[in-house]
Amino acid sequence: MALRAPAPMPELPEVEVTRRSFADRIAGAVIGGLHLGKPLRWPLGVEARNLSGQRVRAVRRRGKYLLLDLDDGLLLLHLGMSGSLNFAPQQPAAGPHDHMDLVTDRGTLRLHDPRRFGAVVWAPSEDSPQAQKLLDHLGVEPLAGGFDAASFHAALRQRSAPIKQVLLAGDIVVGVGNIYASEALFLAGIRPTTRASKISRPRARRLHEAIIAVLSRAVEQGGSSLRDFVSAEGKTGYFQLEAAVYGRAGQPCRVCATPIRSIVQGQRTTFFCPACQKP
Ligand SMILES: [Zn+2]
Repeated sequence: MALRAPAPMPELPEVEVTRRSFADRIAGAVIGGLHLGKPLRWPLGVEARNLSGQRVRAVRRRGKYLLLDLDDGLLLLHLGMSGSLNFAPQQPAAGPHDHMDLVTDRGTLRLHDPRRFGAVVWAPSEDSPQAQKLLDHLGVEPLAGGFDAASFHAALRQRSAPIKQVLLAGDIVVGVGNIYASEALFLAGIRPTTRASKISRPRARRLHEAIIAVLSRAVEQGGSSLRDFVSAEGKTGYFQLEAAVYGRAGQPCRVCATPIRSIVQGQRTTFFCPACQKP
């Protein structure tokens, strides 16, 4: 049997597609029990039996957290470095890397997480300290109305760090991870090493558009492969993005044929075209 390469870390589009894969099916379901395996990143924060009999009202997303609204409080789920969620009427017996089964009358939501950086946390409300500890540093949602070009530019003006690292930090805008930051900066023609504070208003506007375009396309592509994604036995489906620069070091730029370069910024590899992307 061939060894599988480790899956890349789930980014916002994967989490959003995960949400769409089961949100409608689980909404209204009554919880029969929550079963946890090995410890995850944080403790649950409530006796699991207290969740039994509650209804799952809706599944929302904030950054890379999925928020399951219950009759009493909410569950916050995070996929960590390697997690994936699968909702199915029947699940096979839990394997060594299955660390949560949320059993409902419509099916079981299972968290598969080999590296166990994922999380399942209950909080009494989204405003509670338990939830805010996880959510309050998150920037605006890139695919929601609150993300506008003028505020984005104003926020960038306050940062002297390289733009790629400012995007990855997630406190100005959430969910622009390593792959999508490289791709958005290429689309906007901005060198990843450019200081955020030096980016002009027109370039910030282009970057704002590029972030929305890149993430929307990834969600769409994930959405269109949703069937495969859901049936993937709990393994996260990664979208075969036609990357412009990510993972293409040494290959010709799709626009100008200059070889794509890679550098390391903050321990993450960044890819860019030295001709198309200006400092
Ligand atoms: Zn180029």
